[in-house]
This record gives sequence, structure tokens and C-alpha cells, in this order.
Amino acid sequence: MDAGWSKDDLDVRARAREFTARFLYPYEEELDEAEAVNPETEAAICQAVRDYGLNAINHARTFGGQEMTILQQCIVNEEVGSATNALWGRVWQPPICLKDGTPEQIEKYLIPACRGDITTSFCTSEPTAGSDAGGVKTAAVAQGNQYVINGEKCFASNAERADVNLLTTVVEGRPTLFLIDKGTPGFNVRRLPRFAQRSGHGHPELDIVDMKVPATQMLGGVGMGYELTKDWFVEARLAIAARSIGMAVRASELALAWSRERVQFGQAIIGFQAVEFMLAEMATDIMAGKSMLYRVASEIDHGLDRKVAHAKASAIKLFCSEAGFRVVDKAVQIFGGRGTMCENPVERLTRDIRLERIWEGTSEIQKMVIGGQIRKRGLDMYTGWD
Ligand SMILES: Cc1cc2nc3c(=O)[nH]c(=O)nc-3n(C[C@H](O)[C@H](O)[C@H](O)COP(=O)(O)OP(=O)(O)OC[C@H]3O[C@@H](n4cnc5c(N)ncnc54)[C@H](O)[C@@H]3O)c2cc1C
Repeated sequence: MDAGWSKDDLDVRARAREFTARFLYPYEEELDEAEAVNPETEAAICQAVRDYGLNAINHARTFGGQEMTILQQCIVNEEVGSATNALWGRVWQPPICLKDGTPEQIEKYLIPACRGDITTSFCTSEPTAGSDAGGVKTAAVAQGNQYVINGEKCFASNAERADVNLLTTVVEGRPTLFLIDKGTPGFNVRRLPRFAQRSGHGHPELDIVDMKVPATQMLGGVGMGYELTKDWFVEARLAIAARSIGMAVRASELALAWSRERVQFGQAIIGFQAVEFMLAEMATDIMAGKSMLYRVASEIDHGLDRKVAHAKASAIKLFCSEAGFRVVDKAVQIFGGRGTMCENPVERLTRDIRLERIWEGTSEIQKMVIGGQIRKRGLDMYTGWD
């Protein structure tokens, strides 16, 4: 299904596919067992990302990014997303809102982040503000030409070691982002809980205690936090959808191959209608998810209104993460007991795909967004076909 993709789009897919096969799949089991990849391998993967032209696919060339279209970004995320334990994270995509920084911030953070010289994390969630992201309590109080920040954060991926953390705060009750350099006193890791994914980095709980940062570390301005994260949500939700499709495609291909090979009751199990029907449902879910993802990605590239893009991204994230979960679960069923062995990619995909229904807005939150749009504007945005 290439749906009229250009030669460039197909080239992007070929590059991302080859990179994933050569530089991500071979390290999956090592990462799963040791919860880390050795530093030489990390360096080789990092160099390969640059060599394959996959660094900062979401940023402009002037900043050192690849300036890919949204459709091409989805193509890359589908391919790299099929690698287990979040190895896709090695293909860095610096937060899109860094482009809204001052010239000094762009020089100090965005350009090195696009090169892959520095790493980033995004710290929004708090113990009492998960789905309710508007409930963030971490407070930044002006004190001369600096801000003093106090609060708690949880599960911010990579925050324990990122070179710069984008921190969501409130300034006089208004959502505001700050750029926090690694090692800033008062930015404390309280605990590094273990999660189902063995990505090689943490999702820490953080205490932020009397942390002083110069006012120049604010991104955008007081009250700009929500506005700056809007585009991030569209990008992140489409990326999740693309990865979910990538995982589903991989799981279904593995399950198909196994169903042809595995013999029970004197015949290959694909010959049983129960198994064939599972494969049929898997293919149908993938086809539907892929169709909506790439259609809307192309619409965004052709100037879709920002609000509409935001609303549609919710529906795509909802469907693709749920459909991907159904597909991966059926793949495990087709493998039988072998589908639960950690050495089998479908077992690891089970752990990965489960998370996609939760972060960047749970399925229930996506339904709230979609429902709210339907109440305001009617169904046409989702069901119309212009
Ligand atoms: C591995 C991992 C990595 C993460 N990385 C980051 C990160 O890098 N940065 C960051 O800021 N956060 C991160 N998070 C946090 C993540 O964004 C939150 O877990 C997610 O937003 C859900 O919040 P919660 O876990 O507090 O669940 P809750 O908000 O407590 O939700 C619990 C349940 O209640 C439901 N619910 C809540 N409100 C409603 C409602 N109004 N209507 C219907 N149902 C509702 C939810 O859908 C869910 O089913 C990460 C989480 C994990 C697990």
C-alpha cells in the first residue's frame, strides 16, 4: 500500500527499513536481557542514524534536521517503531517546540539536539496530574531575574540523564515551560521505578526543590506552555499511531510465517479457519489504521487547519494503538506458548504496544477530545470525505 507515495517517500521508507534491520533488530535481545546496550553499540547506532539521514526528521534543515514531511515522519516511525523495547527512541526527534526558542536557545539546545550531541526529556506528568495535564502544580515564582521552582514530576522518560529537560510549570497559575540543564541544583531524582519496557533509560519520579533558573531559560513566555505543546501532541500522537502500525505489521508477518510452518493435527495451522480468521482480522485492522494515518498525514502536509489536525490526530492515535494491540495479541495466540517467550519479538511487542494506549493521552482522553469536537462541530471532520 504506497498510496501514490513519491520517489522520495519510498526512498525514506527503504532507508528507515534497512536501518532498522541492521541497527535496531540485532540489539533487541541484548537490551531485553541486560536492560542496556554496550556503549560502543550505542555509539554505532547513533552514527548510523546520521549516516542514514534519520536524525531530527521533524526539524528544519537550517537547524540541522532532515525537514521531512509529516507523511515521511510517519513512514520512518512505522519502520523504526517495529523494533522492540523502544529502540526507536535511538532515532532522536527533539521536541518540536524547541524551534520556538530564542536565537540563543536554538543555538544552545536545538541545533546540538538535532545533531544528536545532546539529549532531551519532557517533564509534564505529576503524581496528581496525569491525564489531567492542566492540573500541573509545579510552581515557578519570579525572584528578580530568575525563577524559583518547586514541585514533583513523574515518569519523565530519560529525565535522569538528559542534557536538557523541558519542564512544565505554572507561573501565577499560567502554564509555562522552562529549559532545565542537567545538573541544575534542586532537580532531584527520587526514584527510578522499573517498567515493562527495557529501553535502557528510566522514567523517574522527580522532586524539584527550590530550583533556581535564570528567566532566560523560559521557553516562549509566561502562559505559553499549552500553546507550545499543541503541535507536540499532534506529532507525538501520529508517531504513536505509526509505531503501533509498525509493531502490528511485524507481529502479523511473524505470525503468518509461523502459521505456515507449525503443524498440528497433521496440517499447518494456517489451514484451520480459526487461525486464518485471526490473520484476516489482523490484516483488516492494519489496513484501516494505515489508511487513516497516511491520509491525514498527507492532509497535514497539504495545509490542514491546525485545530482539525489536532482533533484528527486523537482519532488516529486511538484507533491505531487499540488496533495494534488487537493484532499483537492475536499474533501471540497464533504462536501459542511460544508467543510468551521473551526471545520471541511478539512477546516483547506485547509489552511495548500496551503502553501506546496510555501515554500522550490515554484512549479515554482521546475519546474525550473526539467527543468534544463532535459536540462542537458535528461529525463531518471525522466521517466526511471531501
Ligand atoms: C513508561 C512511561 C513513560 C512516560 N513518559 C512520560 C514523559 O516522558 N513525560 C511525561 O510528562 N509523562 C510521561 N509519562 C506519563 C504518562 O503521560 C501518563 O502515565 C499518562 O498521561 C496517564 O496518566 P496517569 O498514568 O496518571 O493515569 P490517570 O490519569 O490516573 O488515569 C487512570 C485511568 O483513568 C482514566 N481517566 C482519567 N481521567 C479520565 C476522564 N476524565 N474520563 C475518563 N477516564 C479518565 C484514564 O484513561 C486511565 O484509564 C510516562 C508514563 C509511562 C508509563
